[in-house]
Amino acid sequence: MNKEFLYKLLSARGVSGSEMPVEKIVYEYASQFADSVDVDVMGSVTATINPEIPFKVMMAGHADEIGLQVTHIESDGFLRVAKIGGIYPTTYPGHKVRIETKSGTIYGAVLISRDLASDANMGADKIRIDIGAASAEEAKALVSIGDTVTFDTDYRELLGDRMTSRAFDDRIGVFVVMEALKLAKEQGAVIGASATASVGEEVGAFGAFFSASALKPAIGIAVDVTWATDCPHTDPANSGDVKLGGGPVLCKGPGIARMVNECIEASADALDIKLQYEVSGGRTHTDGDVITRTGNGVPFTVLSIPLRYMHSPAEVLSLSDVEKTIELLAGFLCDCSANMDLRPFG
Ligand SMILES: [Zn+2]
Repeated sequence: MNKEFLYKLLSARGVSGSEMPVEKIVYEYASQFADSVDVDVMGSVTATINPEIPFKVMMAGHADEIGLQVTHIESDGFLRVAKIGGIYPTTYPGHKVRIETKSGTIYGAVLISRDLASDANMGADKIRIDIGAASAEEAKALVSIGDTVTFDTDYRELLGDRMTSRAFDDRIGVFVVMEALKLAKEQGAVIGASATASVGEEVGAFGAFFSASALKPAIGIAVDVTWATDCPHTDPANSGDVKLGGGPVLCKGPGIARMVNECIEASADALDIKLQYEVSGGRTHTDGDVITRTGNGVPFTVLSIPLRYMHSPAEVLSLSDVEKTIELLAGFLCDCSANMDLRPFG
């Protein structure tokens, strides 16, 4: 596993709308192996192999992460913020954060008090960031409205093959789609295939809309993370029994293309990779929901990496799931042929 690339992706900051540090890493990396690498007007990077083949499979992992943006600087120098994406405000008090400003990164501590510590209903409006400034003027000299905020946490390797980091959602998806494309090329895939590091998934998936509209893929695969249910306070009855180390998770639901799932299942069988399943009742809340609505419609599925503690500063996953997902996607790309019929019958 290319941990150097993975660690670079996890170290970069990329709250929705400010993903360019991540996209630049992807662009540089993909340029070493892909037949073409493009960046579009939104900033999403797409790497392609066999670009001359019209039949294309598009894999998308989203480069953006949830976070905060500065909305106001108070007279005492504290920063006020609003959320970007589905953050949990209660995870912020007492944490160190990073603010990405036009003159570089500055650091802050999130205010905590006895009241806040016991306020289970606190909203983002209660978050105050202390950057050490004694006045609004001092803070304003460095921080601008709209600057983004992320947890100042590190990735760490845990016992076994587990790791913790912020933003595994969905930096790990970006890692997987790029590594799968690279592996598919090495294994001699003959169809066209693209890996997109999409912007803006956490706030409406507009990046994937631009990318898929330009690519016109025959099949779309959103590669994202999903809730593991093998830890306390989770319920497998909600959407599926998902274990860390149990393998890639394939989504079933009314919007998912059954034939695409069947093809992926056949590739998993051939590679002796165990799949896990989850269900979605309609929208999958991934790039797939948007990719499918481009062009004349794109059959799609969602392949996920099991993740504990999603949208927290310390998400946890198993690297074996990551490896298996890369292997499966590369195998699937090699198994695809340009004349495959994805109709359920007829
Ligand atoms: Zn995600």
